[in-house]
Amino acid sequence: QRPRRVALLGSTGSIGTSTLDVVRHLPDRLDIAGLAAHSKWEQLAAQCREFKPRFAVLCDPVAFKQADRTLFPKETELLCGEDAVARLVTDAGTDIVVSAVVGAAGLAGTWAALEAGKTVALANKETLVVAGPLVTELAAERGAKLLPVDSEHSAIFQALTGHTPADVTRVVLTASGGPFRGKRAADLEAVTPAQALKHPTWQMGPKITIDSATLMNKALEVIEARWLFGLAAEQIDVIVHPESIVHSFVEFADGSVLAQLSPPDMRLPIQLALLHPERVGGPAKRLDWQKLTALHFEQPDRETFAALELGFEVARSGGTCGAVLNAANEAAVGRFLNGEFAFLDIARCCRAVLSSHDYETRPTLERLKTLDAWARQEVARWTRTRTPVAPS
Ligand code: NDP
Ligand code: MG
Repeated sequence: QRPRRVALLGSTGSIGTSTLDVVRHLPDRLDIAGLAAHSKWEQLAAQCREFKPRFAVLCDPVAFKQADRTLFPKETELLCGEDAVARLVTDAGTDIVVSAVVGAAGLAGTWAALEAGKTVALANKETLVVAGPLVTELAAERGAKLLPVDSEHSAIFQALTGHTPADVTRVVLTASGGPFRGKRAADLEAVTPAQALKHPTWQMGPKITIDSATLMNKALEVIEARWLFGLAAEQIDVIVHPESIVHSFVEFADGSVLAQLSPPDMRLPIQLALLHPERVGGPAKRLDWQKLTALHFEQPDRETFAALELGFEVARSGGTCGAVLNAANEAAVGRFLNGEFAFLDIARCCRAVLSSHDYETRPTLERLKTLDAWARQEVARWTRTRTPVAPS
């Protein structure tokens, strides 16, 4: 059996480097066909020297111009832009595409891969938040497999093996609660990006780390689960579990509940998606049964972490709501990281933009792209027109 050839989109990020670690540990099973990053060309060149892919892509034309060609190995062809990503994922030498770009920017590569009938290991949850129904329809039409990498969805996917969605009464996504678990709104008004970037259990890129602090990440995951597993919004629930060892629960019609447990380490769900349906020893950490004493669960504080409710609302309404929520959140997180937004402004602004948009039930992909741009402009407008938050 020859190794599966992997095209990795977002190779320089947190999921990207964890994916390379999985490949590094399983050289007989996995091989890198191509790597794509946005602008970190020195890191990309080092990855190419180690994995010798056929293609490397820099999406950012400025970085492509700057990149020192002599640092890339001879066997790697360096390409630029979105067309190059499409070429990499549709290439006959690619078996599986890892979609690990951050944000709505990840949609194009995922779409191109599914259109070509390739298996996609999906870390980029924004793809499903923005265009869930269109993406899952495309996958079904092209006979392309869509395998979750997000740890909660990987847990649900594992628990569902041998069952159909009709056997399921509900899924319960676990949430670590983030760095501000137990805090009230008054405590959160003045938190800084540095405080929000300190996640208690996971090491991740900055955008998803802020999303974890606001619980927007869980909101996006509710929407992701809705489309990925074809569940009704009412069948999805969230429970806070600070240890991040239980990655989610599935409750079946007979009342039985299945869970998947492992230490918080993304290399496990990544490996599972890459080698599906096989399970082999890999680099992921194992549970230390000697140290395991108790697992804790609590209800999320939906009032303080207002973003969570937005996730349930958007999962219920569907249509254009996901694209608008996602774009508003990306822009708002950017502004919080720049110091232009207070922490609580993120959810406030997302709600304002969502409620002012022209809702449609069955938007086209083009319409969703237009709305994405519109929502980002609305965040800029909200920033200019809002009344400053009174100090409490
Ligand atoms: P990072 O910020 O660490 O990495 C993002 C990657 O995407 C980098 O390789 C970056 O390239 C690339 N990139 C950024 N913008 C663009 C663009 N416009 N076009 C092309 N490539 C781009 O993010 P994470 O790895 O943390 O997250 C990636 C995805 O996986 C997100 O959707 C996240 O929600 C999801 N996810 C992440 C988890 C984690 O543990 N990190 C867990 C579950 C899901 P460059 O470095 O050159 O800028
Ligand atoms: Mg997750």
